[in-house]
Amino acid sequence: MMNKTISLQSLKEKAKQLDQSDKLASYRQKFLFPQHQGKNVLYFTGNSLGLQPITTKEYILQELEDWAKYGVEGHFYARHPWFSYHELLTPKMAKIVGALPEEVVMMNQLTSNLHFLMASFYRPQGKKRKILIEFPAFPSDVYAVQSQIKWHGGNPDEDLIMVKSERPDFVIEDEKIISVIEKHKDELALVLIGGVNYLSGQVFDIAKITEAAHKAGSYCGWDLAHAAGNIELHLHDWNVDFAAWCSYKYLNSGPGSVGGIFVHQKHLNNFDLPVLAGWWGTDKKERFKMKPIFEPMPTAERWQVSNAPILSMAACLASLDIFDTTTMSDLSQKSKQLTTFLEETLEFINDTFGKKIFNIITPENRGSQLSIVCNVDQPKNLFQSLINNGVIADWRDPNVIRLAPVPLYNSFEDIYNLALVLQNILPNYV
Ligand SMILES: *Cc1c(COP(=O)(O)O)cnc(C)c1O
Repeated sequence: MMNKTISLQSLKEKAKQLDQSDKLASYRQKFLFPQHQGKNVLYFTGNSLGLQPITTKEYILQELEDWAKYGVEGHFYARHPWFSYHELLTPKMAKIVGALPEEVVMMNQLTSNLHFLMASFYRPQGKKRKILIEFPAFPSDVYAVQSQIKWHGGNPDEDLIMVKSERPDFVIEDEKIISVIEKHKDELALVLIGGVNYLSGQVFDIAKITEAAHKAGSYCGWDLAHAAGNIELHLHDWNVDFAAWCSYKYLNSGPGSVGGIFVHQKHLNNFDLPVLAGWWGTDKKERFKMKPIFEPMPTAERWQVSNAPILSMAACLASLDIFDTTTMSDLSQKSKQLTTFLEETLEFINDTFGKKIFNIITPENRGSQLSIVCNVDQPKNLFQSLINNGVIADWRDPNVIRLAPVPLYNSFEDIYNLALVLQNILPNYV
């Protein structure tokens, strides 16, 4: 009993000390937290839907006001003209993913963008028809690649290679992926992997896998849904062919908000690369001449199809303006401290109950997420009890809880408070 009290106290002091020396601590005040019994919830699901910045409302209101004031003229006369609104987002987004501004554009949504990008980069020819993905991959990505294969007249049972983890923690070694790439080099057309696995939280070696794909004569694209705004990325230097991500997870742009794409500079002047075109991809200067000739832009904007969803772009801009005052390197450093402290906290809980209740399956190569196997009889009930006690976490069958302490708005005290909740509720489950 004595020992336990001392440990809990030292955990509390450690949290306090870490919060005091955290130079990003003030960012928490820029976000709105859902409430539970008059207090902020303990929010650990920024990997699923990021919190709302306080400024988001103003950014959206500005566009509503300009729409009211100018009607259609807002395309050119709004304070932020809608015709070029997406250009406000591009440099800020490019900085976050380590790209040149011309390589990035915000448009559509994630899965749609994967299809538009595969229209250019999945071009099965002769024997080279296969797509390689990881398993487990996010279901939407699996459906997208299966349907692309069928769209091209192929059979997913033959042309889809899923590199499966053989480990109980779902981790897939980079070397394993590379060896499968090498094995299939004569048949491989495309490698498409999630940069951070949604289930395990594992970060893949994007540069190395991309290089291996290129050696096999294949394009390499990345789904960065769980990576953009979470880990440091250098898409340009890593020679990635293309990437797509959403902005509602770590990028805090609101439910279903606008997605982002990256196409490497080396492809931007290749006008032979086919695109599924629309008027927003044609030369801006000529766009309103309404000519029937598509003049492809020499930037990622060529992949734009439709005019931009300004209201969700306004929400995205509010968030990117916050990111713009910090760096991915600072965020990443705090993210490491947060997950390390969370790991220590869960170990403390295991020790307190004399049992390995929580088993972290996320490897060292990780961003802000820890995936935790719960070794109790009724893990789903334990999860529900967390929710009832104001802890917002995420559940994956059969027994995985995902917790993402996010450096922009989570504190070390949040993690200490989680320990208090667990101490209270766990006796009902162990
Ligand atoms: C969140 C997520 C999606 C969701 O796709 P939408 O098109 O935005 O609905 C797809 N893939 C991955 C890997 C994700 O994490």
